[in-house]
Amino acid sequence: MRILLTNDDGVAAPGLLSAKNALDPLGEVVVVAPERPRSASGHAITLHKPLRLCEAVLADGSPAWATSGTPSDCVTLGFDVLMNQRVDLVVAGINAGANLGFDLTYSGTVMAAMEGAILGVPSIAVSVVGENGHMEYGPASAFAAKLARLVEREGLDRWTLLNVNVPSRSAEDIRGVRFTRQGRTQYDERVERRTDPWGRAYYWLSGSLVEDDTDHGSDVQAVKEGYISVTPVQLDMTATQLLARMKDWEITK
Ligand code: MN
Repeated sequence: MRILLTNDDGVAAPGLLSAKNALDPLGEVVVVAPERPRSASGHAITLHKPLRLCEAVLADGSPAWATSGTPSDCVTLGFDVLMNQRVDLVVAGINAGANLGFDLTYSGTVMAAMEGAILGVPSIAVSVVGENGHMEYGPASAFAAKLARLVEREGLDRWTLLNVNVPSRSAEDIRGVRFTRQGRTQYDERVERRTDPWGRAYYWLSGSLVEDDTDHGSDVQAVKEGYISVTPVQLDMTATQLLARMKDWEITK
């Protein structure tokens, strides 16, 4: 099995090495990651400046590739330049932090997996959901390897990917696995206003998640209850119900 492993936390991130170690027994793992952290870069690609691809080493001395680009650039360069378009699986992660609900499109991790899906490769994004800085990567990495084997056997539908979120807990404290749908995350207190030393205002985007207990079967709920969530995601964002209703709209050019 030929696996392209990337992330959005950068080539030095501990979650990347943890994933690599777990995936290694499955076959050949090519690591290609941004040279610096690129979290919340979404599905951005680099069009207006050169892209560099440099040899790098992970903390354990194993070889990797670092790019000057975004996570999606990493997938494209890995697929076309490093792996000659022979890729059986794209794995993005293990990301330090949740990628749940509507946050997916902000996520460089999930969008790297989406890039893999566009290239026709089964792709999974894996994130660890922790609260106070410390991240437990072991269970998420072991689960990524398990899921990789399952995806190899079962395959995914074209234009789809899997988005996985794992509670940052020891393996025995994780309650199980749930197949979920994408939750509807909304935040309040989204902007924090501060004042710089010269008296001018500046802002931090942050926010606290609005609790929504009606959001049954969602990734958010599963993780909150201590389960691993696995959400199948599709590229087609067409609102099919609205499209059907629009058949009755009257409009002329
Ligand atoms: Mn990240």
